[in-house]
Amino acid sequence: KNKQKKLGVALVGLGGYSTYQLAPALLQCKNCYLAGIVTGTPSKEKIWADKYNIPQKNIYNYQNFDSIADNKDIDIVYVVLPVAMHKEYTIRAAKAGKHVICEKPMAVSAADCQAMIDACKQANRMLSIGYRLHFEPFNMEMMRLGQKKVFGNIMKINSSNGFVWGGDPNAWRLKKALAGGGALMDMGVYVIQGARYTTGEEPLTVKAKEIKTKPDLFKEVDETVVWEMKFPGGSVAECRTSYNENANFLRAEAERGWFELSEAYRYGGMVGATTNGSMSFPNINQQAAQMDDFAQCVTQNKSTRVPGEMGLQDIKIVEAIYRSIASGKEESV
Ligand code: NDP
Repeated sequence: KNKQKKLGVALVGLGGYSTYQLAPALLQCKNCYLAGIVTGTPSKEKIWADKYNIPQKNIYNYQNFDSIADNKDIDIVYVVLPVAMHKEYTIRAAKAGKHVICEKPMAVSAADCQAMIDACKQANRMLSIGYRLHFEPFNMEMMRLGQKKVFGNIMKINSSNGFVWGGDPNAWRLKKALAGGGALMDMGVYVIQGARYTTGEEPLTVKAKEIKTKPDLFKEVDETVVWEMKFPGGSVAECRTSYNENANFLRAEAERGWFELSEAYRYGGMVGATTNGSMSFPNINQQAAQMDDFAQCVTQNKSTRVPGEMGLQDIKIVEAIYRSIASGKEESV
């Protein structure tokens, strides 16, 4: 394929994930390339323009972003901003006539997620969420083993995802207004996802509690959340997420065996095993696979396997978990 046929992607928000994961991944993509940037930091413009050969006319800031509507180089806008900004930039991108990829978690509320879905539908544009693990072979194997009931019905899921916060105490992730929540929103969505795609079912109820050992650091957002989700097929997921514990696994126990990823949610270096032995799959660039797939969905007018509706459902579950923390009771999703 020549470069002419590749779709142009504009990254909105040039922070850590754009800089170290998405932009390098776009160099490996076959169906799309980094065509433009949207940034509020003028000093980043020349660095990115030089590094990725981006013409001045494809560089925007948050004020003039809407004029991207007139730019034929840009087919897809990828929103990589603090969570509370996802709604506004997804809707502005759709109104500008662009297809949208929005990072996880989709938004700070289910109502915002729904508004984003509606705006993209109204503009007849496609919307997908940055759920890279749906393109990652070890996680795809968990989906296959669980959904195809290779070891029979799943009885129990066990998963945790967390790290010990060592970053800036003033980061947006610790501010409720920008992040919407703490570890649950940022890291817990992977656990919710893992349980959903391994069982292939939607949880009916959740029961949750919060643990806070560093109230000075986690003033506004949750530090550690423990919760249980009950699925219609009878399986139960025991889940945990934290900004104060290192954990990264997804395990399923079924009638005739178990299967697990003991390194589950990272950008690479997955480790997987089943009752029958270890899993062996290539390590791939997940972000490149995710973006290439979306570009192909746009070109071929096919639906994405990680649509806005999937992001909305995760936020509905997150909201039920926060309701359960507040009520101390089991809550319906
Ligand atoms: P960073 O803090 O590293 O970057 C965020 C960028 O957003 C900033 O650099 C800035 O870019 C822009 N920005 C605009 N307004 C603000 C504001 N008020 N405060 C802070 N930043 C602002 O965040 P990440 O890159 O780690 O995360 C961005 C998004 O990507 C989040 O939704 C996160 O959940 C998601 N993410 C997803 C991952 C995945 O594996 N799928 C992994 C990591 C993050 P500029 O200077 O260009 O304006």
